[in-house]
Amino acid sequence: LLLSAFLICGAGWSQETKNKKADIDAKVASLLSKMTLEEKVGQMTQITVTVFEDPAKPGYFDAAKLKQGIQDYHIGSILNVPNPGAPTTKRWQETMTAITNEANKTRLKIPVLYGIDAIHGASYTAGATLFPQQIGLAATFNTNLVKRGAEISAYETRASSIPWVFSPDLDFPRNPAWSRMWESFGEDAYLSAQMAVALVDGFERNDVGSKYSVASCMKHYIGYGSTTTGKDRTPSIIPERILRQYDLTIYEAAIKAGAKSVMVSSGEINGTPVHSSKHLLTDILKNELGFKGVVVTDWKDIIYLNTRHKVAETKRDAVRIAVMAGIDMSMVPEEFSFYTDLVDLVQKGEVPMSRIDDAVTRILRMKFELNLFENTVANLKDYPKFGSEEHILEAYKTAAESITLLKNKDAVLPLNKTDKILVTGATANSMKYLNGGWSYNWQGENSDVYAADKSTILEAFQNKLGKENVLYTPGADLEKEDDAEIAKAVELAKNASKIVLCLGEKNYTETPGDISDIYISKSQIKLAQALSKLNKPIVLVLNEGRPRLISDFEDKMSAVVQCYLPGNEGGRALVDILYGDVNPSGRLPYNYPRYPNSLEKYNRKYTESISENEQNNDAKYEKSYLPQFEFGTGLSYTTFAYSNLKIDKTEISTTDEIQVSVDVTNSGKRAGKESVLLYLSDNFASITPEVKALKRFEKISLEPNETKTVKFTLNQKDLQFVNQDLKWIAEKGTFTIQISNLKKDFLLK
Ligand code: BGC
Repeated sequence: LLLSAFLICGAGWSQETKNKKADIDAKVASLLSKMTLEEKVGQMTQITVTVFEDPAKPGYFDAAKLKQGIQDYHIGSILNVPNPGAPTTKRWQETMTAITNEANKTRLKIPVLYGIDAIHGASYTAGATLFPQQIGLAATFNTNLVKRGAEISAYETRASSIPWVFSPDLDFPRNPAWSRMWESFGEDAYLSAQMAVALVDGFERNDVGSKYSVASCMKHYIGYGSTTTGKDRTPSIIPERILRQYDLTIYEAAIKAGAKSVMVSSGEINGTPVHSSKHLLTDILKNELGFKGVVVTDWKDIIYLNTRHKVAETKRDAVRIAVMAGIDMSMVPEEFSFYTDLVDLVQKGEVPMSRIDDAVTRILRMKFELNLFENTVANLKDYPKFGSEEHILEAYKTAAESITLLKNKDAVLPLNKTDKILVTGATANSMKYLNGGWSYNWQGENSDVYAADKSTILEAFQNKLGKENVLYTPGADLEKEDDAEIAKAVELAKNASKIVLCLGEKNYTETPGDISDIYISKSQIKLAQALSKLNKPIVLVLNEGRPRLISDFEDKMSAVVQCYLPGNEGGRALVDILYGDVNPSGRLPYNYPRYPNSLEKYNRKYTESISENEQNNDAKYEKSYLPQFEFGTGLSYTTFAYSNLKIDKTEISTTDEIQVSVDVTNSGKRAGKESVLLYLSDNFASITPEVKALKRFEKISLEPNETKTVKFTLNQKDLQFVNQDLKWIAEKGTFTIQISNLKKDFLLK
């Protein structure tokens, strides 16, 4: 009975969804039929809010400019944050009211769609709850927690009257030097896809039209994070086979989860800028993957087809190429040139009206789905939990589950309250560095916006131990070498029993974050080396967006803790972990390289790491794979024992699933959380197989002595790879399942 009730409910629900969809389709078609060419092209235009500002009154509109944009140019979308940044929800409400009033004066009263970089929370709103950046979310290996965080981000962004976020970031970095590594989920496509789905589910909440949901925007489609140089917005070389096997699977998962829009990569792949690629935008994304949402450019990227990439001789031609490739909305065309050029291109028959109609249909559909015709401006009374303790607690929990203990020699951690601690290092006392870019402004460089009750790492120590009980000196600048500062730190360290050395990076994103050396800065290496001469236990805390090499001194460190960019609650979460009030459970979502010329991924090929291959024990290759810390590394203050790895079949056919189970026991003395990771190896294949690849994970909590059985189901897709004909296939032969150090083989017949 229960089952049939469930089925009836299920059927009813999908009928309701179908009706809603048909209703929206009808509304879109009817509205489209009433629109002039100019009104349609206006919808495809997205202008930065600062264009409409009154220079004499930063943050406020010049009424004539706003009228010109919305009424004369019919613009459909606005993005970005007004000067000087980080408005309150009240100020956002006023901004959105002005825009809405202007839109209501137009002939068809089509609402303006406002989009924002809400990256780790409503990160352009004063007082918003700031979570760890994406790389930290990946390190939690906890999709429920990540989804809950996205729900909170959606709530707080909607409280800011904004319905559309430029998140999640689905970039798939291949060079860890890239300045946007931290905006990604790290080096594994499966983990990235699971996390992407968690964010989309959390943002859109299955009902994007509700007042607590926002539309997500997958970015930056595609190949953006794979620059050969490691520098931002430089070319990538990615064979389509590889693109399909990894990068595209992340988009596929997010599209299935319902992602409403996608932003195009500013980069070029194999010599074709993505903004000009009909193959990538129309053939693959819209046709093959069936993506029905809005394809928006990245910042000024249509113009750059002319001025940077040089595939268009004029700006007008750049507009033609991009729109014909499949672009639906142009982000930040220079003032209104996109509008005038595109109107002209359609009038002269160089762009067919059908292409414009496709783009505008997608944009209007999103506006209806978001319910913008009825509701654009937030009623602040609906959002009592904005920046609340409840939200802050979730950000704290997420930070706590992301922080990753990479090394703990002689159990130096947890610290003891009786230890005399020296806190030092350039990242020890900075909210900016804890948060990184996209934090109340673009580069996150404004320190004044952090509330007084948020604590840096140092302040969290002081709160725990009393200010007078913590020794502190910065010890080094992030960049400038300063021997006097180092000497001061060494002197002070003599009075300490343990040293907490906080190193890392400044706040940055995009091209300003480019580096020419992946080693951590020289000034910091010098400090670490000077302190290590004292022979006192040093706990190295890394606060960085990408793995900066530490091989010059890592062996002298007793403990290493990676906290990534943990956000506003990160200082507190870190110190609670260091003292054992919280048991760490994060795991590294990338290989931490040891050398600049050893950037192998964990799922490398055998020829990158012959030592793994027992059948070919060629000594001269033995050391070819030696990351500082491997993907998946993450220690706990307790221990976990794995046993009883079982599979339900040792031979399967090409239609079978395979059930896997394993027992995990907390064999230590404290409660803890463990991420159980299942890897699969295809032992022989016509395309050189990966040594292993992550296929499933689950995070569990265990009390001391408690055992849980974790079950996974693998299906045929898990056995497949993309072959030279660009088809997903599974080849017959043996496969090995690996969980922890346990292994089981099965045969695909
Ligand atoms: C970035 C995007 C961002 C956009 C809008 C671009 O420079 O690449 O990630 O969403 O600006 O601010």
